[in-house]
Parts: sequence; structure tokens; C-alpha cells
Amino acid sequence: MRDFQREVLKAAHTKPIQADDFSWSPLRHYVFNACKRAYFIRYYMAQGGWDVYTPTIAREAYFCKYVLTYDAWLSQTLRDSIRQALARMAAGDPRRKRRDFGFYLLRQFSHATFDLQQSLTNREYRFDANRPVFFEHLHGYEGFSCIDTLIQRVVDFFTNAYSVLSKSPLMQDVSALNFVDLRTDEKFCKAVLNGIPVWIVPGLVFFKEGCLCAINCEARFTDRISMDDFNRRISWTNSIFTMYGKQHYPSYPVTCTTFTFSPDLNGIVCNQLEENMESIISASCDEMRALVRPGELVFEEDFPKCGNPDTCKICRYASACRMMDASEHL
Ligand code: SF4
Repeated sequence: MRDFQREVLKAAHTKPIQADDFSWSPLRHYVFNACKRAYFIRYYMAQGGWDVYTPTIAREAYFCKYVLTYDAWLSQTLRDSIRQALARMAAGDPRRKRRDFGFYLLRQFSHATFDLQQSLTNREYRFDANRPVFFEHLHGYEGFSCIDTLIQRVVDFFTNAYSVLSKSPLMQDVSALNFVDLRTDEKFCKAVLNGIPVWIVPGLVFFKEGCLCAINCEARFTDRISMDDFNRRISWTNSIFTMYGKQHYPSYPVTCTTFTFSPDLNGIVCNQLEENMESIISASCDEMRALVRPGELVFEEDFPKCGNPDTCKICRYASACRMMDASEHL
């Protein structure tokens, strides 16, 4: 008897896919260089995967795309919490700014922790790819399986981050900002290089003393990314924000600062820039575009598996990759 479901699965991943409007980001570069198939899954196969009527493979690819690692979730939540706390504080009573900032920041941390707990306990992430879950939790990593232990780990991190941030002179300066200084709408920043959009998440963006500033937060508590790659990512974000500032606010000097949190590097401030950023982006774009065939089509066979067991072991696209393998042998 014909197995229609298997045939649909096979058809879903063997047909060419229309390439998206091309843009570049540090994450895109990182995924491309780690594994071409992972890149294909994230940037092409996941297209439309939010729709329950798309093939299972596309939905799995979409799910993998939005599952964050523990470090990525901490970094993102720190950035969002600081941005929201500052926006609330800056709109409030100017005499109580410092106190309000601390209060709102703690409240954001508390909301984020509760939200995470709800998502994990009720497995909400299975029905909505935008609900929080960690790659490490899904794959049963030691210390990440038990929800209570995981939540305690998150609480410990936020307690420590709050202590570091509240003592930092940089944050004390920032807590004196006014509402009009903050660029709360700039969650993503787009620079343009040779006509190609270049995206970063800069963290908090504001004007201070005639200068365009960004403060970013990056956490590294697992060894999924090497220290070299971690530092490179920070200097790239700083450099792309500088490029963005020069393009959008040419008359303002630009500074970008990143707080890095890790067990051995707690709350270190980094202003490092990458001198060759433009040529790195151009070369990276050329490599990616070379895999798009005429007609703006991409074919799965042009994106081979990496063949590196160490990369596969920690790959967040592994479940979609396994589905592709399974349907190849139908
Ligand atoms: S499991 Fe390995 S081959 Fe498959 S997408 Fe991930 S890194 Fe690439």
C-alpha cells in the first residue's frame, strides 16, 4: 500500500526552494561555516514552517531555527530586560531613576524566569516556536533536564548579573538617561554593504553627550562556542554597529560596548573592533551567494553535511537533518 505521508515528506525536501531576499549577519556566517546543511535548514528549509499545513520537515526546521541555546537565551533576555527597564525608568520620575531602574530590571528578570518555567512545564514550545526552551534541555544535557534545577541556575545567573550590572559605572551612567535619549525601537540594526543588508542585535541603543552608543550583553556558560569565536562575535557586533552608526547618524561619533558574562569572565567590558569587517562580510556574502543557482533557486544537494561528529553532537538542527536523511532512503 502506498505511504502518502512518506511521499509528501520526500517531495517536501527534494524540490528546489526559492532563495529569500539575501541579507548577512554574523550568525548566518557562523552557521554557513559550521555546516552547509545546517545553513540550508535554517535559511531555506524553515521557510513557511510556522504554518501547520506545511510539510513536517519544514515545521521541524522552523522549530530548530527558533530553539535557543542556554547562552543565547541568557544574552537575549539580559538585553531585552535592560532595554525595557531603562525605557520604563526613563519615562518615570527623574528623582527616583536609579531606584526605579533596579526595580524594573529585577521585575523583568522575574517575568522572564516565570515565563520560561511555564513554557518548559507545559511544553508550550512544542506548539509555538517562539516560546522559550533550551537546546540543552531538549537534548537532556547534564544539569538541564530537570526543570527545577534549570530554573535555579537561571535565577543564580540573574542574581549575579544584577549585582555586576548595578555596580558597573557604565550602568550608573545609563540610568541617568532621559526617555528621549533612548532608541527603544532599534532592536535590530541594519547597515548596508554593497547593497546587501547586514543585521545585528546591538542591545541597548541611546544618545549620550552627543555620541551614539550601544551596550550589548553576551553570556557564555557552556562550551558550545569557543572563546575565540565568542570574542570574534563581540568585536564583529561592535564593528557592525559602528558601520550602522556612520550610515544612519553620520554626524555623531559612535561607541559600542559589550558586557561579557561567563564563570571566569564576569561582567568584563569589551570595546574591541574588527578592522577588516567589510572585507570579511564581502567574502562571506560571495561564498553564500555562490550556492544560489540561476533563478534564485537553492537545491539541497548543494549544501552537504559537514561530516564532523563534534559539530553534529551539538547541532541544534540535528532533528531536521535526521528527517532529511530518513526521507532520502524512501
Ligand atoms: S547534524 Fe551535523 S550534518 Fe546535520 S545539520 Fe547538524 S551539523 Fe550538519
